[in-house]
Amino acid sequence: MKINKNFDNLVPNYLFAEIAKRVNEYQSANPDKDIIRLGIGDVTLPLAPVVIEAMKKGADDLSKKETFRGYPDYEGYAFLREAISGYYKSFGTDVGADEILVSDGAKSDCGNICDIFGSENVVLVTDPVYPVYVDSNIMAGRKIIYADCSKANNFKAMPDDSIDADIIYLCSPNNPTGAAYTKQELQAWVDYAIRKDAVILYDCAYEAFITEDLPRSIFAVEGARKCAIEFCSLSKTAGFTGTRCGYTVIPRELERDGHNIYKLWYRRQATKFNGVSWPVQCAAAAVFSDEGQQQIKVNLEYYKENARIIADALDELGIYYTGGKNSPYIWLECPRGMSSWEFFDFLLEKANVVGTPGAGFGSNGEGFFRLTSFGDRDKTIEAVNRIKKLLSE
Ligand code: PLP
Repeated sequence: MKINKNFDNLVPNYLFAEIAKRVNEYQSANPDKDIIRLGIGDVTLPLAPVVIEAMKKGADDLSKKETFRGYPDYEGYAFLREAISGYYKSFGTDVGADEILVSDGAKSDCGNICDIFGSENVVLVTDPVYPVYVDSNIMAGRKIIYADCSKANNFKAMPDDSIDADIIYLCSPNNPTGAAYTKQELQAWVDYAIRKDAVILYDCAYEAFITEDLPRSIFAVEGARKCAIEFCSLSKTAGFTGTRCGYTVIPRELERDGHNIYKLWYRRQATKFNGVSWPVQCAAAAVFSDEGQQQIKVNLEYYKENARIIADALDELGIYYTGGKNSPYIWLECPRGMSSWEFFDFLLEKANVVGTPGAGFGSNGEGFFRLTSFGDRDKTIEAVNRIKKLLSE
């Protein structure tokens, strides 16, 4: 019996374990210190009332023979796919309900999509990167190449025609950098993908945080239907990180290597996935109702204001950063030439504030640091005041 040897090629990911270890050690040695965590990537506010109501009603349905539901449709119930299609329409993008496949989240879809592509394909990801794209493709034995993000391109890597790629992962607004592509920049990626006969895997899990005039979907870009698949999620949009619901959009006409991509993904899902539960799909549909949209906005505004508070402080301190405006993430350059981990320790020990070292997201993350806006407002303000005081000394 042999295991999948590709697993030997995975780089151990110590990032969050190492953060926890250092924080625990510091707290044990200094039990009186009030540590504030600005490293959280999870939401902290509860689900909207209309979402909870729909979930409860969905659970009630399961208690009666007449309304009981068993296995859902593989692609998700039509009422939810229609609601998602209507949501796209609300920001001017046409995506058919029959091009949407509901899932338990964007993480699984971004990784599982690997099943439908050949292992000989070359995968391009940006550096720094959301690690799921890299690890899923290493498990599948694919070669990975990196497009550099840096201060020089404001952490928005752009295509290079001298480089060939078959699968391109883009994430905008980005985790970890918070950088968001403009329509023109995405157009360059779409044109490149078409020239290379590649497929763009577009992760827009943070589209609900966009405040400026930027595309919320790759399908706002001309030609994207010929080369792109989009992944989105209710995790950050509506607080579904524990509830689990996302969706993937595949244009029905998208083909590669003589195969229809929608049909391949449908087949993959029908084989290995049995759908999202009835109460959760009811709750998800409620997110897209008028009332739901109003209610989720309250939480989104709360996080956005936290992001603005952090970004304003960095402006005051004259520290370079990306994100904060169209994203819950703020990606800053470590001050005084510190490395990511040096700054982590400095902030932990001198301000009792925890963030995420950028080096954990790829080599181009060295010297950078991620703060998030998912925390409590008062704690965010307190943390920012501590950082301002420390860095003004
Ligand atoms: N994509 C990105 C870029 C993320 O940062 C995350 C979560 O942190 C996800 C996807 C995961 O989304 P989900 O909770 O829907 O699996």
